[in-house]
Amino acid sequence: MVPAREALALLREGNRRFVDDLRNPESLHARRIELAAGQAPFAAILGCSDSRVPVEIVFDQGLGDLFVIRVAGNIVAPSQIGSIEFAADRFGTRLVVILGHSNCGAVATTLQQLKSPRERQSRNVRAIVDLVRPAVESLLTSEFKDDLPALIRQAVRANIRASVRNLRHGSEIVRHLIQNDGLLVVGAEYSLDTGEVEFFDDIE
Ligand SMILES: [Zn+2]
Repeated sequence: MVPAREALALLREGNRRFVDDLRNPESLHARRIELAAGQAPFAAILGCSDSRVPVEIVFDQGLGDLFVIRVAGNIVAPSQIGSIEFAADRFGTRLVVILGHSNCGAVATTLQQLKSPRERQSRNVRAIVDLVRPAVESLLTSEFKDDLPALIRQAVRANIRASVRNLRHGSEIVRHLIQNDGLLVVGAEYSLDTGEVEFFDDIE
């Protein structure tokens, strides 16, 4: 474990390097000046908080390119929907990607809770589990129920699809933009093993 003060020092040093780089005229200098005046991210990504799936790195994008929302389990709750409405409305972003990933801890925790709901759980964690649960519950009685890796694989995908559905139908603004203004909401899964992102093909 990295002690908190050391962690803070790592962030400070990292930001110093970043700022040095920004000052370098051959580097990001011009882009920073341009972005200080406003942003127009070309995609919004709702991803998981997992440290192994840093969205800008995974898609090889830089400053000002992506509007990123990250929450454990890439769940769609009101504040996530609000963030996406904000990006679509203010910045004209027309692509939203729900990005889940293999071996998602939030999904695994939800399956565990469903299998043996004994531990006491903070109500804040439960708020996440409760949003993942409806998508994965039925898998516990499916053909995958005794094969944990397969179960998690299926549950991750089911959770991504549920988030896509919840976003498409959970907001009047999003629904309107999809129908009338070219907004696209797609699901995708990142593989921790290969680094590849597979986009789901059920684009409406
Ligand atoms: Zn995750």
